[in-house]
Amino acid sequence: MARVTRRGDKSNRPEVRHAPGSIRVSRKPVRSVRITSPVDGSAVERFATAVRGAANPGDTLKLKCSGIESVKCRVKSDGSWAMPDIDLAPGAHEITVENLDHPGTAAMVRIFVSEIPAISVISPMAGETVEAKHIEVTGKASPGRLVCLRLGRKTLTERAGESGSFRFTDVELPAWGDQKLMLYYAEAPSQGNVDISVRWPGLDLPALVDPVTRSPLKPGADIVRCSNCYTYCYRSTWVRVGKCPRCDVSGDYWTRTAPIFHTPRANLRM
Ligand SMILES: [Zn+2]
Repeated sequence: MARVTRRGDKSNRPEVRHAPGSIRVSRKPVRSVRITSPVDGSAVERFATAVRGAANPGDTLKLKCSGIESVKCRVKSDGSWAMPDIDLAPGAHEITVENLDHPGTAAMVRIFVSEIPAISVISPMAGETVEAKHIEVTGKASPGRLVCLRLGRKTLTERAGESGSFRFTDVELPAWGDQKLMLYYAEAPSQGNVDISVRWPGLDLPALVDPVTRSPLKPGADIVRCSNCYTYCYRSTWVRVGKCPRCDVSGDYWTRTAPIFHTPRANLRM
């Protein structure tokens, strides 16, 4: 009985207080429900979708969409609202938001959800033998998304730019041998993720300098290694001097196609 009375009071009569000297409360028109994001007819990638909009302050809204459980939120005093994130399967969807306090007022948008684009690594290449302890990892991902790079026990994060490019600089390889780099989206770790392996035999070229020019040796540059004293130098230096610039023995050199080129001096049986 009490419930029926309360409901009747609330919906049928304007709430006007009659305290002495009080301000008369006029009924404001109910603000209609609007969905501002995502935009009707838009295509979105399959990250958690944030649905936002405007409606009558203080009212409770309910979001319905096939394939997911309904979610609710309350409209803030400034008239804005934001639903808890929802995860929609790829395909076409109709999202309806209705005002539970004012039945009959609702808004609807149609969106198309596409698969999350796969992260691609441009550098280093999968299976590559790297020549430095600190490497740069570059690639492409969905624009603006946070990309995680896990290597050993460390996880680094970088945000992909407007074009989708990302760049992790100064990534330290934790150990010699095969290393697994795992790249994934912070928001959806199991979608669009990629693992690549690189090999690091322990040679750290940037820590070495050319014996003649004293310039640091760049990974991937035209560098040779003396087969007698195991010194590295630029091939141009070797050619200019006519032999190994360090040991003066007119021997031969290895290029990086020879496995021993990458073996650190400490690992050689000398
Ligand atoms: Zn030498």
